[in-house]
Amino acid sequence: MIHLSNIDKYYDSKFQRTFVLKAVNLEVKEGEFLSIMGPSGSGKSTLLNIIGLLDAPSAGEYSLYYKSVLDLKEKAKVDYHRNFMGFIFQAYHLIEEMTVYENIETPLIYKGVKSKDRQAMVADLLDRFNMVAKKDLFPQQLSGGQQQLVGIARAIIGKPKLLLADEPTGNLQSVQGEMIMETLQQLNNEGMTIIQVTHNEKFAEYGKRIIRLEDGIIRKDVASKIVFSI
Ligand code: ATP
Ligand code: MG
Repeated sequence: MIHLSNIDKYYDSKFQRTFVLKAVNLEVKEGEFLSIMGPSGSGKSTLLNIIGLLDAPSAGEYSLYYKSVLDLKEKAKVDYHRNFMGFIFQAYHLIEEMTVYENIETPLIYKGVKSKDRQAMVADLLDRFNMVAKKDLFPQQLSGGQQQLVGIARAIIGKPKLLLADEPTGNLQSVQGEMIMETLQQLNNEGMTIIQVTHNEKFAEYGKRIIRLEDGIIRKDVASKIVFSI
């Protein structure tokens, strides 16, 4: 599904070139659940943003389903974002002018889901995430963890084929974190391809495969230890 070959990402300043990713090669098959670990600043978000067509590499090739996606026009990228990918951002990126309910509903409107079905789908996730009482509040009225839950609900509600999750549990209490990991595992069992960035060793094990980035290089690429009873 995803083929990255020889991906470099660097930033030039007047006197030097700083590499964030170096010759990254990565293949992710449909149905995988991949966890990306690594120290702060090692390039995890950069890699995820490149996969999510939110950032462009400085060099290398990237194809989705064997089609290069590096020179896509803006409209084609928006198509991928709306119809193919879900993104959980490290910094949430909720729409401040919209309520919790409206934030979560937005992807369904883009997908053309009927109003009645939208209501039922949003209500179901609000309930699952214990956020029913917060549905008419605006993001600024929520705690960090609650905003993170809204961001997760928004990313998964349209059942994207590919879910990119950047520290999805970074601001959650451990019980909520486990609930989210179980939700992701269930979505993966239903066929969703998931790539998550996490600092949490235990949550990384929910993935079927774990890679470790260090200084922009993939140092480790292993199968997760947990055997799932699917
Ligand atoms: P964290 O775990 O803290 O989220 P990360 O592994 O996600 O870290 P990235 O956000 O990918 O790290 O950043 C990797 C490196 O790229 C950092 O050193 C950062 O300073 C650098 N970087 C990111 N964006 C830019 C930019 N626009 N200009 C210059 N350097 C940048
Ligand atoms: Mg990051």
